[in-house]
Amino acid sequence: PVDRSPEIQEARLKLPVLAEEQVIMEAVRENPCVVICGETGSGKTTQVPQFLYEAGYASGSGIIGITEPRRVAAVSMSHRVAKEMNLPTQVVSYQIRYEGNVTSDTKIKFMTDGVLLKEIQKDFLLQRYSAIIIDEAHERSVYTDILIGLLSRIVPLRNKKGMPMKLLVMSATLRVEDFTDNTKLFRTPPPVIKVDARQFPVTIHFNKRTPLEDYTGEVFQKTCKIHRMLPPGGILVFLTGQAEVHSLCRRLRKAFPFRKGNTTTGVDEEADTSEAMRKFKKAKQKKTVVFRPPPPGTRLCVVATNVAETSLTIPGIKYVVDCGRVKKRFYDRVTGVSSFKVTWTSQASANQRAGRAGRTEPGHCYRLYSSAVFGDFSLFSEAEITRRPVEDLVLQMKDLNIDKVVNFPFPTSPSAEALVAAEQLLVSLGALKEPPRTGRVKDIERARLSCPITPLGRAMASFPVAPRYAKMLALGKQQDCLPYVIAVVAAMTVREIFEDLDRPAGSEDESSKLTQRRARLTQMRRLWAGQGASLLLGDLMVMLGAVGACEFAGCTPKFCEENGLRYKAMVEIRRLRGQLTNAVNAVCPEVGAFVNPKMTPPTEHQVFCLRQIVLAGLGDHLARRVQAEDILDPKWKNGYKTPLMDEPVFIHPSSALFKTLPEFVVYQEIMETTKMYMKGLSAVEAE
Ligand code: ADP
Ligand code: MG
Repeated sequence: PVDRSPEIQEARLKLPVLAEEQVIMEAVRENPCVVICGETGSGKTTQVPQFLYEAGYASGSGIIGITEPRRVAAVSMSHRVAKEMNLPTQVVSYQIRYEGNVTSDTKIKFMTDGVLLKEIQKDFLLQRYSAIIIDEAHERSVYTDILIGLLSRIVPLRNKKGMPMKLLVMSATLRVEDFTDNTKLFRTPPPVIKVDARQFPVTIHFNKRTPLEDYTGEVFQKTCKIHRMLPPGGILVFLTGQAEVHSLCRRLRKAFPFRKGNTTTGVDEEADTSEAMRKFKKAKQKKTVVFRPPPPGTRLCVVATNVAETSLTIPGIKYVVDCGRVKKRFYDRVTGVSSFKVTWTSQASANQRAGRAGRTEPGHCYRLYSSAVFGDFSLFSEAEITRRPVEDLVLQMKDLNIDKVVNFPFPTSPSAEALVAAEQLLVSLGALKEPPRTGRVKDIERARLSCPITPLGRAMASFPVAPRYAKMLALGKQQDCLPYVIAVVAAMTVREIFEDLDRPAGSEDESSKLTQRRARLTQMRRLWAGQGASLLLGDLMVMLGAVGACEFAGCTPKFCEENGLRYKAMVEIRRLRGQLTNAVNAVCPEVGAFVNPKMTPPTEHQVFCLRQIVLAGLGDHLARRVQAEDILDPKWKNGYKTPLMDEPVFIHPSSALFKTLPEFVVYQEIMETTKMYMKGLSAVEAE
């Protein structure tokens, strides 16, 4: 029996999913797997776990697990459900990468999809759970896809062993054919239950013309116009990235100053959501409790990236301003070169955005592009797994003894090329057994795609970082290098730890300030790069120096601000260092690694070892400077040649190795911006 407060009870009854409770629970009783579709806000995430709880799925030894692609959702949803059910957080709990409040009394457990994947590695049958809900399946995040593939096998296994488990897949869109019409995944298609959302009509206004250059300016104009001219109601603005969100919030606050209650709020992408959520909550509090209208003369305006498209419920939105674009990371399948590009979004996601305007009353969506342009959008966004390298997934699967990854029941399979490339990289890192080189061609081909994991590979799979970095950790024991390797790997994993010195200045005044700051921070980075031997470790030495100095200073926002470090990134590195240290100790307890906040710089000999270790991890990311006498085309001046590319790649001016231009370097990755730039460089000595 659940003892809910009358207010909660009343609010629940308004949720469309409540009307389907019986249908859902009957389907769950009769089928091992069930798919539930319902618009954002229909009550899936908060209510379905409660349905399962009340139907007794957590009354025995098993508990109910719910996975979320985002950490912030796992935390906030666990709190909300605990509150609704009037239960303590020891019973309705969460577990995310670095923290959690799960206890032996936990009955409902919210977690990120990555956490559940790790649990499958420890116990393939997931015996602690009587039911698993995969939430936000429409996002098609890589881990979600893998989990569904794995669970499609685990559920029948559990049934066969006489300890049945239920699987529920929840999606905010109706496009679920990849899960249901996929006999490799589910031999019997699971039933799909549609929850009819209480949706008010949303009037769509297309622009006559489509701004191609200054769409953020257009967004600003439109938002101001809505605020000045249109009746009360919250505005939700969709932009593509953090910088745009912050800049629009600044402009709006400037345009409408001092008027109490004029709230603008930023909601950024994953990396920044926790802070954004904090701000968001503050904004909500200002606006008072959720269901009361805002005080007169005020308006809530939320500026967001596509995070807000489906996973967050923002009350009181009547107007949506949609720039129609989305920022995505692109990888070149052959060369691995990555770039961030702003592209048109899909029709499905534009419709999701529009839908956010009609949750509480009829609304309006302003699409800042023409209907013809909309007609050219792709219908749906592609699954993430088809758009990125998969070596980390392949290693995790091999660790689960899935040798033939090609046969895995992916909802959408990565390309054969991507799978082959992953297998090759893992063999070269020593994580997989080398396939035989002699024998019948057919056998060699087959063996090449089903290499079993090695003991080194098992150790690497236990580290929560990319395989190249996991290899470095596995080698880190030598010469007391481990603390340094851990710090460097953490810094490389977190990415973008330095403030962007290339950013354009807004005004002339700002420009001269920025020039000064640039000079000072460059100086600082030079200091971190060290002297003599340590210079050869290049950008990785700068990272190591930055992490060391920041930790020494107690990792404060002030230190980060003064030294051009992104505070959030540094906090993340600190957590990751702790986590990696534990993971290393679990694999080889004899090392006794610990995080030393007063880490001294590495000795010359240690720097030498570190470079060897880095080379072992990044060996396939080798580049050689083109010698002056070999340059036929001026575009190769100061250029580097890599094995896979015909075009030159370059050292960025902000790199510690920009002036030295060593003959051989290894790089962390290549990013294409104005040129192809190598990032995270370290020098390699020729034999
Ligand atoms: P779905 O998963 O279908 O998108 P949710 O279960 O997340 O829907 O949300 C259902 C409703 O619960 C929302 O419309 C909102 O009104 C309410 N809700 C969710 N989280 C909170 C919260 N933290 N505080 C108050 N109400 C909330
Ligand atoms: Mg939800």
